[in-house]
Amino acid sequence: MTTDHDALAGIEAAWAAERAGYERDLDTHFARYVAELEELCALPSLSSDESALWACGEFLERKLAALGFQTHLPAVEGASGPPVLIARRHYDPALPTLLIYGHFDVQPVDPVELWTDAPFTPTARDGYLYGRGTADDKGQFFAHLKAVEMLDRLGVGPLANLTLVLDSQEEVGSPHLAAFVERHRDLLAADCVFYADGEAFAGNRVMVQHGNRGDCFLIVRHRAASRDTHSGIFGGVVPNAANELALLLASLVDRDGTILIEGFYDDVVPPTAADREAMARLPHDQADFEAGLGLAGPFGPPGLDHWEKVMFRPTLNVSGITAGYQGPGTKTVIPCEATARIDMRLVKNQTPDDIERKFKAHAATQGFPDLEIERGMRYLPARTAVDHPFCRLAQRALGLAFDQEPVITPVIGGSNPNHIWMEQLGLPMAEVAYAQHDCRMHAPDERYDLDHFRRGILTSAFVITGTARLGRLAAAGEAR
Ligand SMILES: [Zn+2]
Repeated sequence: MTTDHDALAGIEAAWAAERAGYERDLDTHFARYVAELEELCALPSLSSDESALWACGEFLERKLAALGFQTHLPAVEGASGPPVLIARRHYDPALPTLLIYGHFDVQPVDPVELWTDAPFTPTARDGYLYGRGTADDKGQFFAHLKAVEMLDRLGVGPLANLTLVLDSQEEVGSPHLAAFVERHRDLLAADCVFYADGEAFAGNRVMVQHGNRGDCFLIVRHRAASRDTHSGIFGGVVPNAANELALLLASLVDRDGTILIEGFYDDVVPPTAADREAMARLPHDQADFEAGLGLAGPFGPPGLDHWEKVMFRPTLNVSGITAGYQGPGTKTVIPCEATARIDMRLVKNQTPDDIERKFKAHAATQGFPDLEIERGMRYLPARTAVDHPFCRLAQRALGLAFDQEPVITPVIGGSNPNHIWMEQLGLPMAEVAYAQHDCRMHAPDERYDLDHFRRGILTSAFVITGTARLGRLAAAGEAR
């Protein structure tokens, strides 16, 4: 019986043997791929512009149909609104199905006067393609399409069954994607998920990540009286909402950030040995970090490593407090109302609903049973084991294509909708970044390093063939 390790070594040997053929094919066709990417990036598919999103979806539908994909372009919710493109090319039910996620909506272009070229007039110069969407995310998912084209031409096989899901609302948080995926579970059945987005680490070290923290954002309003009052006439006989809310906020965390809400850590799972090994390889210089932020020393519970605090521990952060008078001069007032904005980053197995319930229970025990609570951003946490066979395959594919050791991030500290794939569909997931570190995502003069585009195509080719060779059970993680 072969182990995961043997299987991966065999797959890597096949990749290395096939690479020369891929490079020759890229030498012949890469200039045309860049021209096609320019055409795609000329489409002004802003997240808010529905007609531009449909036009871009239809453009991609034609590209995918030409590669033999069956395509569907429904609205993400109801009968109208922005679309989602689903494209499937399934060869053999015995082979694993690789679900590839990407997004073709782009960020606004303001301030437009800071662009060297018009943002939707993609321009190649000095080895980069400039233009909105070149790096985020059109140039990254387009690499998958060009990999399929290349593999078909070269007759390399077997290829994984492929399902592409191209979103048009990623830049605004994909608010309807989870419900959409739930309604289309049959169409989206897969063994593993691959996603190219984001940018390389400093020094252009390519990265793979396998999870994210969630977020439970609450806007908490405390009322102590029905109106503001004079602090002289009423001082001592009317409670102050700001003073009172401060007591509640002080009861939530201690000086090292440990959360004091009962049961908050109940579902938190510590990192595995493989997680610890990956974290130990992550670049971090504590002295530089402290100097850069003017910190007197490390923050957080003693004994925990920097990355463990960012990846495997939840937080409770007061992101804003509003109460009373904050203008110039003095105003002697007793504020009747005080508001705090609280964002709690959650880790795997925690849910915003459960955490909100625990927050409310804590507030009640502190004497605040009638807090007015408004919900803000909510994201579920998600995580795939860094040493899952599919994750290791993606890490090795990226490393080989970019000729470097990739940075492996078990969990990113921020939040995104990847729980849809990892938790809702229960699939192993690898998110890679093909774009270079200085790609200026979301900013003027966004640009995509064309060498990264070319290596991205190689990576996608390796992942598509590698997943097929890995086999169904291993891709789904059942063989472990
Ligand atoms: Zn993106």
